[in-house]
Amino acid sequence: MVRVAVVDREYCKPNKCNLECIRFCPVNKTKRKKAIELSPDGKHAVIYEDICIGCGICVKKCPFNAISIVNLPDELEKNVVHRYGENMFKLYNLPIPRLGNIMGIIGRNGSGKTTSIKILSGLLKPNLGQVGADLEWDNIIKRFRGTELQTYFAKLANNKIRPVVKIQYVELVKRRLKGRVGELLKKADERGIDREVVDKLAIKHVLDRKISELSGGELQKFLVAAVLVKEADAYFFDESCSYLDVKERLRVAQAIREFIDVSKKYVMVVEHDLMVLDYISDQVSIIYGEPGVYGIVSKPYGVRTGINHYLEGYLPAENMRIRREPIHFRIQVDIRVKPESEYPILKWTNIVKTYRTSGFKLFIEAGEAYPGEVLGIIGPNGIGKTTFIKLLGGVLEPDEGEVLVSVETISFKPQELSPKIFPEETVAANLRRASPNTLNPASWIYAELIRKLGLNKMLDRYVADLSGGELQKLAVAVALAKQADLYLLDEPSAYLDVEERLTVAKVIRRIIEEKRKTAMIVEHDLMLQNYVSDEVIVFYGKPGIEGYASKPMSNREGFNKLLKELGITVRRDPQSGRPRVNKPGSYLDRQQKSIGQYYMP
Ligand code: ADP
Ligand code: ADP
Ligand code: SF4
Repeated sequence: MVRVAVVDREYCKPNKCNLECIRFCPVNKTKRKKAIELSPDGKHAVIYEDICIGCGICVKKCPFNAISIVNLPDELEKNVVHRYGENMFKLYNLPIPRLGNIMGIIGRNGSGKTTSIKILSGLLKPNLGQVGADLEWDNIIKRFRGTELQTYFAKLANNKIRPVVKIQYVELVKRRLKGRVGELLKKADERGIDREVVDKLAIKHVLDRKISELSGGELQKFLVAAVLVKEADAYFFDESCSYLDVKERLRVAQAIREFIDVSKKYVMVVEHDLMVLDYISDQVSIIYGEPGVYGIVSKPYGVRTGINHYLEGYLPAENMRIRREPIHFRIQVDIRVKPESEYPILKWTNIVKTYRTSGFKLFIEAGEAYPGEVLGIIGPNGIGKTTFIKLLGGVLEPDEGEVLVSVETISFKPQELSPKIFPEETVAANLRRASPNTLNPASWIYAELIRKLGLNKMLDRYVADLSGGELQKLAVAVALAKQADLYLLDEPSAYLDVEERLTVAKVIRRIIEEKRKTAMIVEHDLMLQNYVSDEVIVFYGKPGIEGYASKPMSNREGFNKLLKELGITVRRDPQSGRPRVNKPGSYLDRQQKSIGQYYMP
């Protein structure tokens, strides 16, 4: 076995502990050799993997959970592609770019997806595990001899592959890029197709806007457009769905196929919305391992079986169990029986509301919500979802109709994770501010919210240092920890991996049931939305002009209504039960449309 020891520099704080890891190490105690000691600058522990016996005592002793030690089979070592540094993350294998196929990548956050993209796009030269080495390209190419990656790296080394990457965190662009959308796209356009791309992604109305004025969804589409108009040989899309509604997600997927000639160009996409990943890719590679410690890229699988294997947690070609339990998205479509004895938390009649300034008109069907209930909100952007919530909370007055039972306090998690929602510097301070009891280890909220989301391990960390997924979990926790009658969470899935999405969904349900309050979840990952909500309210109409909000209805009825509006049909995968989008015009698409069953008949 080969030992991989990782010391997380963000978590290791030798000046705040008693160096238990070093003092209790049995190898150190023999005084002949040291398996673990402080780095020369005293800032973190260093573990010598060849001396360490892998007993795991330091892992248990570290008060900050900074150390991970795993033993991996020897034969894996020949597959090391990169190691960031001593006691840092190690990547084995790479996803294989193939002409004629769009390669999807699934895996946990911190498992090496972005690292793989950086290597394949030439941003990061792999060191094959030889920390600190600047290897000659010839050596790297030799390492991949006899594989499809040999040709790819040979071309990359000779500048015969021009790569372009759609980065993951769209927020970064606001800080780095100045100017107006239209001008920037024109400047980026090397193929003379900016107009077609603008039409396909429906971003004409933002061409005159400054980058700083764009919403998250508009930024996302701008970035996808800016990548599509580049004349490149390899296109990489690192999460292209955050902040987009269902229609926009599928549009991005279609645009990638339409504007990139897959037979001549390499295309890779990282995506956690499994319905979209399924729709967009031909094959998938699964990255498994231990987040932050090591990642192993699987062989390519066909998209349907690959996603099913991922959910099952077992990879047959590798004969490898990647998770103890399978992931089951409980797809409940039946009508929930309302508790008769309980009073509603919210009750409203038919309502009409018009904004005089913009002329936007919203029609709402009467409805009610009960304690412990999670209502899903689905529909496009700009259709009146926020207006609806403001009416329920009494911030706005209806023109016609009334809110019969209204809520006094609303706790809101906005879609975009701007620094504004975290007034304090550290994770702990923000949680304490939301509710002082949150950090009491004996409280149920600590057990059900903080621990379940893994925030207990990062209490001392600075908000500014968190990754997108960590920020999202903190934002959800802050919103759910507050005292309120109604919890409104706008796109809690953004930047979370599949497993985290499921965890967040379970946490939301548990907290709302326990608090006997109501949650409304705006969410465009339909698998997740179906999983988390008891009923859904569907918004439809013409964004920015006229919106309609349905009464709360069963998932089946609601999803059917939404998909009918979008002209998309979805079938059920017989093996996993998960939803799959039908190809437009296919036999099933036509059949489902003819019987009016748009969602998993
Ligand atoms: P993913 O894209 O799957 O979320 P990444 O490829 O970004 O994962 O990162 C994999 C691991 O490598 C993470 O644990 C991350 O902390 C670590 N890592 C990423 N970049 C660096 C770096 N420049 N130096 C050291 N570690 C890094
Ligand atoms: P959503 O939350 O679904 O994105 P909103 O309820 O925020 O939609 O907005 C619906 C429409 O109403 C948008 O076109 C928006 O520009 C318009 N709108 C929102 N607030 C106001 C306001 N205070 N005055 C005028 N128009 C508004
Ligand atoms: Fe020492 Fe055991 Fe930690 Fe290795 S795993 S550094 S032997 S305490």
